[in-house]
Amino acid sequence: MSQQRPYVVGNWKMHGTRAMLAEARAIDRAGQRHPKVEVAIAPPFTLIHAARKEAEQIGIGAQDCHPVDGGAHTGDISAAMLADAGASFVIVGHSERRSNHGESNELVRAKAESARKAGLGVILCVGESEAERDAGRAEEVVCGQLEASAPQGAGMVEKLSVAYEPVWAIGTGRVPSNADIEAMHRAIRARLQAIYGAEGDDIRILYGGSVKAENAADILGVPEVGGALVGGASLTAESFYGIIRAASGENVD
Ligand code: PEP
Repeated sequence: MSQQRPYVVGNWKMHGTRAMLAEARAIDRAGQRHPKVEVAIAPPFTLIHAARKEAEQIGIGAQDCHPVDGGAHTGDISAAMLADAGASFVIVGHSERRSNHGESNELVRAKAESARKAGLGVILCVGESEAERDAGRAEEVVCGQLEASAPQGAGMVEKLSVAYEPVWAIGTGRVPSNADIEAMHRAIRARLQAIYGAEGDDIRILYGGSVKAENAADILGVPEVGGALVGGASLTAESFYGIIRAASGENVD
């Protein structure tokens, strides 16, 4: 089992103008106070460069990238451009990209591979819908997504994390039971080992979906949970700080 630091990542989604750089600075200070936790944020593309300059220590990443390096792709951003802007990682396959933009597993895999080739870390998101869970198909769906969207080839496992984000838990205030989180993370671990062999042992598996200061310690204590991908509660340093503290093992009453 991996001894890596818990990885706590804020996904700012389509929130944030330059005024929010003050939050990035405050999150950076919180990260510096808790070196046992690896803290990162993924602001919108427009803030990556400025956030990298403002924050000294935390990771700064992106929420998506295009699978090719450059060319006639109006409105798109390549992994190489993200690295040039100061990003160190990118989230791929978020359920909002999969549903709002019709992203297939194959496309997600191509994005992950291009990100790794550009030297970026990758957070690959997978997760079932409520209907799929109710039908008893959650593990089958998640492992199928993983199998088809995991990057393949030399150097892909390094800096790869997986985020298990049940679609029905994102932004809803609902979270699976600890037993369900553990079962899914164990299934993901087994699938990662099947895909990558022993290298699959050390890939961090984050949980995402309505993580807050109040439930973070509980969720982060579940076996095989290596961190959290956090949406709403990462938008202010105050709310995100509670999660960082919980990940560091501090009490957050
Ligand atoms: C997310 O969108 O990745 C997410 C986990 O959102 P929230 O924490 O708001 O549920």
